Amino acid sequence: MLTSADQGPFALGEALAAREREALRRCRTPTEGGSGARLRVGGQDYLNFSANDYLGLGDDDAIKQAFKEGIDRHGAGAGASPLVTGYSRAHQALEEQIADWLGLEAVLLFNCGFSANQAVLKALLGKEHLLWQDRLNHASLQEMGSQLPCRMKRFPHNDMAALARQLESGKGLIVSEGVFSMDGDQGPWRELSELAARSRNWLMIDDAHGLGVLGPEGRGTLAAQGVSPACVHIQMGTFGKALGVAGAFVGGSRELVEYLVNFARSYVYSTHMPAAQACAVAKSIALVRGADEARAHLQQLIRRFRQGAGQLGWTLGASETPIQPLLVGESRAALQLAERLRGAGLWVGAIRPPTVPAGTARLRITLSAAHSEQEIDRLLDGLGQAGIEPMQEQGEAKHA
Ligand SMILES: *Cc1c(COP(=O)(O)O)cnc(C)c1O
Repeated sequence: MLTSADQGPFALGEALAAREREALRRCRTPTEGGSGARLRVGGQDYLNFSANDYLGLGDDDAIKQAFKEGIDRHGAGAGASPLVTGYSRAHQALEEQIADWLGLEAVLLFNCGFSANQAVLKALLGKEHLLWQDRLNHASLQEMGSQLPCRMKRFPHNDMAALARQLESGKGLIVSEGVFSMDGDQGPWRELSELAARSRNWLMIDDAHGLGVLGPEGRGTLAAQGVSPACVHIQMGTFGKALGVAGAFVGGSRELVEYLVNFARSYVYSTHMPAAQACAVAKSIALVRGADEARAHLQQLIRRFRQGAGQLGWTLGASETPIQPLLVGESRAALQLAERLRGAGLWVGAIRPPTVPAGTARLRITLSAAHSEQEIDRLLDGLGQAGIEPMQEQGEAKHA
């Protein structure tokens, strides 16, 4: 049997030791259940301020029931890739439901957002194209962009003047996010759509964190900003965050979807998501559309948290979403703060490079409609007593 001591062509141990020295090594913590607001780890109960379950739907009885009934009707797995026999009436119904919800011509389902993003970029961009990306785009977009034969240009976060200059150098696709996953601020979608239209380039939104949370009926960032879906050629959204299940979709014109069905290899050559999962997502979307009260409660919690954290001396980013980062700076200090909060029964994730730029390690605090105002106050008490100085001058400048 191979052991870690065997030296092969890959210096795995060395890479891990280097991460250890910089306080950047990752490890996993097995959890023992919970919901949008609570978490059980090692037999202890915590308030959970680190999940993306912004509406608390991950533990919703109606969604769980739809999943179970879906299994009874369709079985546990899809059995094949979508072009073979893995595409069912349940998948088709979910595609139509999403298209109707978001005002799209057509929609395609993927097993996860990471592969959906990669599939789109890979299927579209040839060496004659340019790809423009916000510098804070998700790893799935950055990684695929850097591996493709197209030229990639990364513009400073939300800097539309810089993007406008970069657009002079060719034709292709602009990609940005609805809500930025580590900062909680939004992309300027009016300006982005104007720039795309004027330069006759295509525009893609990754709205993993806006969908369900923002806009009327939870239609996401575009709806919240009053931008017509017709101005954005490609929409990507995920089912694993506010929708509380798993999976993702890509939507746009019928032609785009037909093209992806033919040319997106991770769609064609991958077993389709279970039909039962599509049933659960369909139930979730039905609930999300009617969840204005939960969204209003969430906004109230966000205001309460920001006011309290401001009084404690933390400078807050430009986030009106449930993602509320507290910049700490050094990785070690961020880990220490997260650990102290855990001691107080509060589970908050410390996010370190390379997930975020060097020197901007942070607590990524996420709020959920499943939290109560008292629970926000408990978090604020914990932060006040943790005894770590807030880093001053937080914000976009840090990403420069
Ligand atoms: C989570 C996330 C993804 C990936 O989605 P998964 O379904 O979890 O693979 C893509 N983009 C952004 C911005 C995300 O936050």
